[in-house]
Amino acid sequence: NKTILLASRPQGTPTLDNFKFEEREVPALQEGQVLLKALYVSVDPYMRGRMSDADSYVAPYKVGEPISGGIVAEVVESNTDQFPKGTVVLGNLPWQQYIVHHGNGLRKINPAIAPLSYHLGILGMPGLTAYIGLLHIGAPKAGDTVVVSGAAGAVGTVVGQIAKLKGCRVVGIAGSDDKTSYLKQELGFDATINYKTATDLKAAIKEACPDGVDVYFDNVGGEISDAVYLNLNNFSRIAICGQIAYYNSTSVPTGMRVEPILLKRKAMMKGFIVSDYAADFESAAEDLAKWVQEGKLQYQETIMEGFDNIPTAFLGLFSGQNTGKQLVKVAAR
Ligand code: NDP
Repeated sequence: NKTILLASRPQGTPTLDNFKFEEREVPALQEGQVLLKALYVSVDPYMRGRMSDADSYVAPYKVGEPISGGIVAEVVESNTDQFPKGTVVLGNLPWQQYIVHHGNGLRKINPAIAPLSYHLGILGMPGLTAYIGLLHIGAPKAGDTVVVSGAAGAVGTVVGQIAKLKGCRVVGIAGSDDKTSYLKQELGFDATINYKTATDLKAAIKEACPDGVDVYFDNVGGEISDAVYLNLNNFSRIAICGQIAYYNSTSVPTGMRVEPILLKRKAMMKGFIVSDYAADFESAAEDLAKWVQEGKLQYQETIMEGFDNIPTAFLGLFSGQNTGKQLVKVAAR
């Protein structure tokens, strides 16, 4: 039974050396406990924050202890009627092949609704993040121009498609031509920008947004965002969802001052963390599931195979290896 521990806190970009594999015995099941077999493991950018010990909205991982995150798992032994053998659950669980668990905090998944992995992506935390950030903070109206950075990722792909459903002009910024063609051809984005090859980002955004930017859903920060800010409209709304461009920074990020623009454009900028919106999860998840079932939302995953590849899959998020949601398939059901 393998587990993956945090070996050390990364300085700058994490490497495989920050992770350690260890064999652990599976303890005997007590009354009320279940034995879970991990099926799909989610790797997410926020985990980089938890690898460091800086103050944040989730507690840091402890050095020498297992890393944890969203996992879809199957109950393979059960000592409780609440989770019979064969039940599939979603939980915040340690990166471990087999996990003994007391059941608290586990959510049952209905395998009939959608593929199991979707509950870590479009029907799970990233989908809810897209839905809540865009609709609650971005508040797009039909005809608005919505720009999303990190557009080809787990959150970004859903943001852009929901904005299309709301009748907006949607512009996606991503890091490769394969990604930008996917956004345009498969997901129906109106325009896209490859930020790695664009020579003048401000001009590229102006060209893609001839009527200016009404809503900016920011997954990345940095110079990409600066260029968007230079194209904001009056009364625009900016949802600060992620700042991945800074997650590996070792010093305080500096750059353009955005306040004069926010003032002149009477713009609203708001950071948010999806877990604060738990009261809205049920209705948001219902909408997302309906749109997926009706074929109104397309969904893409990048799935690596094998427990040993979890750290590699995680590191790939910082070089843009994934299109859509990055997952690791650890075992079959
Ligand atoms: P993604 O699937 O988007 O994966 C990360 C992507 O970020 C990569 O594929 C890469 O795409 C891009 N990227 C990596 N480094 C940089 C960089 N330096 N500059 C620009 N782009 C970069 O991840 P998620 O969809 O899961 O998350 C997207 C963002 O949303 C993250 O910042 C995450 O922390 C945040 N988030 C926030 C939540 C909240 O509650 N506020 C909840 C969930 C996620 P490319 O090839 O385009 O560079």
